[in-house]
Amino acid sequence: MDDRTIIVTGGARGMGAATARLLASEGGTVIVGDVLPEETRALTDEIKQAGGRAIAASLDVTSEADWDRVTALATELGGADALVNNAGVSQRVGILATERSTWDQVLAINLTGCMLGIRSVGPGMCERGRGSIVNISSIAGLVAYSSAAYSASKWGVRGLTKVAALELGPSGVRTNSVHPGIIETPMIEDVNATVRASFAATVPSKRTGRADEVAATVAFLCSDASSYVNGAEIAVDGGFSAGGAFQGVINEVSRRSAKPDM
Ligand code: NAD
Repeated sequence: MDDRTIIVTGGARGMGAATARLLASEGGTVIVGDVLPEETRALTDEIKQAGGRAIAASLDVTSEADWDRVTALATELGGADALVNNAGVSQRVGILATERSTWDQVLAINLTGCMLGIRSVGPGMCERGRGSIVNISSIAGLVAYSSAAYSASKWGVRGLTKVAALELGPSGVRTNSVHPGIIETPMIEDVNATVRASFAATVPSKRTGRADEVAATVAFLCSDASSYVNGAEIAVDGGFSAGGAFQGVINEVSRRSAKPDM
């Protein structure tokens, strides 16, 4: 990440903060954009104290004016080399109980926010002929999930990613989506321990994930190590989306075919 400028949205806490810390520790200059000014400042201070480079930016991803300002800030630094569209909100409401206002808010932040980011930062990347855009979707963008607006927004992010990969790819800009499983961050603090434990039991890896495990995948996608990865969707979910319905059958076949001395 040496000499790279990276914008991380929703970077004040959770996975965004883990990503900002990792990218800064790898030598990048990280613009941390969020709607939580105190938490954003605290994180950038922490990164700077550790010897890294980070800039706090007030960014509501639904605001085109905010995107103009943050993109201009990146341009002053030579232009954004990577954009991590990580900001998101989750409202766990079934489709029949979903208020129009909830639907609009979740879609605006989770999906429209990604589009506005790509539309604002993408042109500079295309002009320079290089760049990496990482959109944080979810397993809720791969399978059905218990929140209509959230799942729809995350499937939308997956589709948007493919379009961007085709549209910006010829200009040297790669766009990929990351699909975290249940990751221990402030977003799921209100999910009770029993539900978390029952989820963990259905995951082949038998546990929930950590923010730094997602950050490592995001850093890979931001870096040149993934130079031929474009339009991909990478699940960081302990195997959850691999087809859990077959887990019992697979366990049984594996048990029967195991040699006694193994
Ligand atoms: P989090 O709630 O800890 O962090 C989300 C961040 O986004 C916060 O700092 C928040 O202030 C910021 N944000 C919210 N609205 C914003 C806006 N309008 N503009 C800018 N910033 C805004 O959540 P997290 O778990 O770290 O989630 C990060 C991303 O990962 C989200 O897109 C989320 O949907 C996705 N995700 C989370 C999980 C999980 O289990 N935690 C699983 C799959 C996907």
